[in-house]
Amino acid sequence: MGETRHTKVLIIGSGPAGYTAGVYASRAMLEPLLVQGLEPGGQLTTTTEVENWPGDTEVQGPDLMVRMEAHAKAMGCDIVSDIITGLDLSKRPFTATGDGGTTYTADAVILATGARAKWLGLPSEEKFKGFGVSACATCDGFFYRGQEIVVVGGGNTAVEEALFLTNFASKVTLIHRRDELRAEKILQDRLLKHPKITPLWFHTLEEVTGTDTPLGVEGVRVRNVKTDEITEVSAKGVFIAIGHAPANELVKDVLEMHNGGYVSVKPGTTETSVPGVFAAGDLTDHKYRQAVTSAGMGCMAALDAERFLAEQDG
Ligand code: FAD
Ligand code: NAP
Repeated sequence: MGETRHTKVLIIGSGPAGYTAGVYASRAMLEPLLVQGLEPGGQLTTTTEVENWPGDTEVQGPDLMVRMEAHAKAMGCDIVSDIITGLDLSKRPFTATGDGGTTYTADAVILATGARAKWLGLPSEEKFKGFGVSACATCDGFFYRGQEIVVVGGGNTAVEEALFLTNFASKVTLIHRRDELRAEKILQDRLLKHPKITPLWFHTLEEVTGTDTPLGVEGVRVRNVKTDEITEVSAKGVFIAIGHAPANELVKDVLEMHNGGYVSVKPGTTETSVPGVFAAGDLTDHKYRQAVTSAGMGCMAALDAERFLAEQDG
């Protein structure tokens, strides 16, 4: 049996929402405990330049998250390297189980587990994951120096990944199912002007092709969605950038959800359907999904938790 630790406020997640909740809950003297999860710092650790964090014209995502962690710690937040594998919200104090065997009990819980990359769901994508297929250009781009690469998607992530991959690749083909990008205009302009990037409009990826020994990618088979014609594009690296899904596994059958898996909160608050449980960031937000909005919701969650606990005491 592992140890049991009690906290007034348990924060699950270490992205902008979690760390901001940590700063505010600490300053409210709630002595919060924050569990970082598998990805300390969250999604921004998988990118390079961030140009829309107020106060920094440009900051590296991983650097920003190191600073946020240090800030939360300096305010008194207890930051723990663990992964929550089970959560019982049926009675208070709430109970969370850590991967390392620790049991956490808490008077209030702030859920800030964010979102994870979506995959296409193709057997060939699964087969070559880690062997040419990736969802993180900053993690894996370096392996494709001087090679051809394809990126699938049309949002901010796909465009940023395609631009970043030009640092390594001889050519980047952006495969998108429409001929209009969802990405911000400034990113679209950079992409369309880039000499190394070729967009392939109205196409979907049907299959990743490659060798078995050694396991490695040689290209992709793509389908023209208008004509159904199948063609091949050669590539050593395939980056899937088709969006993110909320990381709701801990509360999927327990809390009310909206828009296919985002945790619902009472409008204008971070209160979930269980009193004392608050949700912030990409886990609850299907619309904005930005670092600054996540941080804002982290602040709200800490203030909501503070008010909730004060009402319980009173
Ligand atoms: P996340 O950052 O997703 O963090 C979730 C946290 O929860 C992680 O620390 C994870 O370890 C933890 N966690 C998950 N499950 C568990 C568990 N079971 N137990 C414990 N912990 C758990 N936004 C911008 O504003 N500007 C940008 O330039 C920008 N660039 C981006 C580039 C990329 C490549 C990506 C993918 C996203 C980008 N975004 C950007 C979006 C931004 O990163 C997200 O909106 C933001 O990180 C969401 O913050 P969050 O705190 O809700 O969750
Ligand atoms: P997104 O905005 O949801 O875009 C997903 C893209 O993938 C869309 O173009 C979509 O096509 C395509 N797609 C989805 N499913 C597909 C499928 N099965 N097959 C083929 N294509 C598919 O996701 P995102 O780009 O990851 O961005 C997520 C959030 O993070 C957004 O809010 C974004 O603003 C934010 N973010 C911000 C920045 C920044 O501020 N610089 C950077 C990265 C991410 P359709 O367009 O046809 O639907």
